[in-house]
Amino acid sequence: MEPIFLAPYFRPKIWGGHKLERLFHYRVPEGKIGEAWVISGHRSGPDKIINGPLKGLTLREAYQRHPVYFGYPKGKEFPLLVKFLDANDNLSVQVHPDDAYAKINENDSGKTESWYVLQADPGAQLIYGHHAKSKEQLRDWITNQKWHKLLRYVPVKTGDFFYVPAGTVHALTKGIMVIETQQSSDVTYRLYDWDRIDAKTGKKRQLHLKQAMDTIQVPHHDPEKHIEQQTQQDAVIKTLVSPPQSPHFYLYQIDLDGRWDQERSGHPYWLVSVIKGSGKLICDGHIYSIALGSNFILPNQVQHFAFEGKLRLVISAPGNK
Ligand code: ZN
Repeated sequence: MEPIFLAPYFRPKIWGGHKLERLFHYRVPEGKIGEAWVISGHRSGPDKIINGPLKGLTLREAYQRHPVYFGYPKGKEFPLLVKFLDANDNLSVQVHPDDAYAKINENDSGKTESWYVLQADPGAQLIYGHHAKSKEQLRDWITNQKWHKLLRYVPVKTGDFFYVPAGTVHALTKGIMVIETQQSSDVTYRLYDWDRIDAKTGKKRQLHLKQAMDTIQVPHHDPEKHIEQQTQQDAVIKTLVSPPQSPHFYLYQIDLDGRWDQERSGHPYWLVSVIKGSGKLICDGHIYSIALGSNFILPNQVQHFAFEGKLRLVISAPGNK
């Protein structure tokens, strides 16, 4: 059984830069990609499968028509979305709803996300959480644009990890590149967009203050971190988050220098992104070259696989929700 390799879906963004163009050897006429959706079955940007028996289908189509590859999941929507983000400017200050709110108001999933920082300029700070003590204070500070009082800045460096539950105020800022693993959802409520004008439309982008105030967690609490580390053969495996703390996904960082043989046990399928180095994936006797920027799924029928080389991987799997 073959792994399922995917071609990214690219999304130009007002705040995007040119790093993703270089990483994926891809050019868009207007430049400045911003987001590469590298493992996506979302209706707004499903990835194409580029090898094997499912070649030519989107991941969305494959998930809906061939559930055997994914262990016969309950739902029809591929539950996770993995993106590379290149913030060449600040993203809007935003919040995402939880499942209950998104289902009623948006016909989409809620969005809990997470960031593994691939690169951060020296001194970079991102926005994570806020300082309002009550809903009244939150409303006052948002309505009166007291951003310096409201927003909480956190220093960030390469290799940091952030878990961003639905309801958390957040923004990536200029000079930060991340791989984002999240629930498959396209719902963002903007509370502040730095008063900038979108060059394409000549207007400011839309804000969603009512929905933002409905969904922001007050007061903000940082989630606890339980990062666990273990060594298996030549690999160091860090569990970044897992249920019950993170009900929607498991997330691992793997650092390999040598060989790592593994069984696909425990998860119905695995989502893999190479974020550093190069090497090989060996699956049922077949060898695939992989390198920074490779993204693939190890489907349910894969029992044994191995990685070889000097690699850093980010691996996720669906949670129990
Ligand atoms: Zn977000």
